[in-house]
Amino acid sequence: MPHKTELYEDVPPTCWPIVYSPDYNITFMGLEKLHPFDAGKWGKVVNFLKEAKLITDDSVVRAREATEEDLLVVHTRQYLNRLKKHTMESFEEWSFVVATITEIPPVLFLPNFLVQRKVLRPLRTQTGGTIMAGKLAIERGWAINIGGGFHHCSSDKGGGFCAYADISLAIKFLFERLEGVSKATIIDLDAHQGNGHERDFMEDRRVYIMDVYNRYIYPGDGFAKRAIRWKVELDWGTEDGEYLQKVKAHVESALNEVKSDIVVYNAGTDILDGDPLGGLAISPQGIIDRDEIVFRAARKHKIPILMVTSGGYQKRTARIIADSLLNLHSIGLIDKELATGEARDAQVEMMSREPKDARPARH
Ligand SMILES: [Zn+2]
Repeated sequence: MPHKTELYEDVPPTCWPIVYSPDYNITFMGLEKLHPFDAGKWGKVVNFLKEAKLITDDSVVRAREATEEDLLVVHTRQYLNRLKKHTMESFEEWSFVVATITEIPPVLFLPNFLVQRKVLRPLRTQTGGTIMAGKLAIERGWAINIGGGFHHCSSDKGGGFCAYADISLAIKFLFERLEGVSKATIIDLDAHQGNGHERDFMEDRRVYIMDVYNRYIYPGDGFAKRAIRWKVELDWGTEDGEYLQKVKAHVESALNEVKSDIVVYNAGTDILDGDPLGGLAISPQGIIDRDEIVFRAARKHKIPILMVTSGGYQKRTARIIADSLLNLHSIGLIDKELATGEARDAQVEMMSREPKDARPARH
């Protein structure tokens, strides 16, 4: 029996399947400015969407913080304990663990209660948001978590600003709780390799992983690469033309490989030209086109899609993410209700399918 969770509660039909909470944003008295990224990008995306009159505070789904029990669906208790000070040998050791995982150096100098409240709680709330968006995607045909996409974290190891494995959690929740969901495809288009979910689903043939990333940057996790079923490695400075042509061709091929019940789209924007970490050279319009390609492909294959925003923290990133969602709406790929009869048909068809053997197939 799955544990009792608040993350799968019903959402009123008056809400968009867009999940967010003001608690996503990381602030601590200006210290966050020492970090090379915009730790408030999630709130800015939502403000741009409100300005454009797409959403209001009442029409988005408010994310809830994932509880310890929720996190244990994927994480080991030992890992979760490592994030808590009281189990560590010393304060220095604990601060080092959290600072390393979140890559926020000032964390080293903050007391435990502040780190819990100002760093780990926002990340747990974003993680809850991804899990909630998973269920919404199945119900509505699509859903977007304005945060999440912590693809470097696996069940027993964090890193690269990823403290909780939200993608693995969302998929495992779906497999455990929603009848008819037994296969997932991850399309990971963040500039970095998604070694967290790759390690989590290494032996699990229910999950098909496609990953497109800069081959020369973090994490270069050779072991995790074995879990990638459709791999596209990019060179330094890859530009729009080559990138979009590759994304289009390979997303299509990957979706043809298996008929999944859900697509999890890790839509990192650190592919953007000038990103200090990504090393690629994609334009703002290139990002908008990329998101359109993925949503169009999922729709064409009649597979519900869950999008998370993942990496990419330049000052102009929030504007680009908002513009991309506005574009998806303007061309009818996302709408408040199930936009088309086609999406509804796909949902009905999926719900009425015989439940399959839920055990993971080993190779
Ligand atoms: Zn990244």
